[in-house]
Amino acid sequence: MSAAKPLRPAQLSPSNNNHRSNRRPCVPCPLRHNSCWRSGGTTGRSAMATDQQRSGGCLCNAVRFEIAVPEAVFSICHCGMCRKWSAGPLMAVQCPGAPIFTNQEGLAWYQGTDWAQRGFCARCGSSLFWRLAETPDAMTIVSAESFDSADDLKLGRHIYVDAQPERYDFGDDRPRVTEAELLAELGIAPGGK
Ligand SMILES: [Zn+2]
Ligand SMILES: [Zn+2]
Repeated sequence: MSAAKPLRPAQLSPSNNNHRSNRRPCVPCPLRHNSCWRSGGTTGRSAMATDQQRSGGCLCNAVRFEIAVPEAVFSICHCGMCRKWSAGPLMAVQCPGAPIFTNQEGLAWYQGTDWAQRGFCARCGSSLFWRLAETPDAMTIVSAESFDSADDLKLGRHIYVDAQPERYDFGDDRPRVTEAELLAELGIAPGGK
């Protein structure tokens, strides 16, 4: 893994298919619905133009966006990358499609692995998006905290719980899934980073 620097969207390299076996996705996703990126479900454009549309943004508003949220469910990812990136376990919602930006002055992308990119505000530092490098428009995992209104979001489950440190814990009784269980569910063989 390279120590990649923040990338503007235009600088991102074209996708390739050489790394499929090396994927180690942390996908804060219930993965129990038709819009899942693995199931080839609904794509972004068709899911939009409904009352599912939500707005959100970063701390300083240099990034503002709208995106369709078909299911008001968030997952909590405990993987080390998410914790490092978001200063805690990442609470996020999987959305089909890409955000529609009403302001992207501050938007930057960090490619921490060869298969995934993390979107953030380069001005205020807010952690905002996670997407696949190969198919960036197919789905976006959006920080639940970035939405203007998130009070109705329900916790789906915890993922990468085998990467969770002992210094914190959540008291809920929602399902807890390990990396191996998640990858098996996704049909992805465990591989190197
Ligand atoms: Zn993660
Ligand atoms: Zn900002």
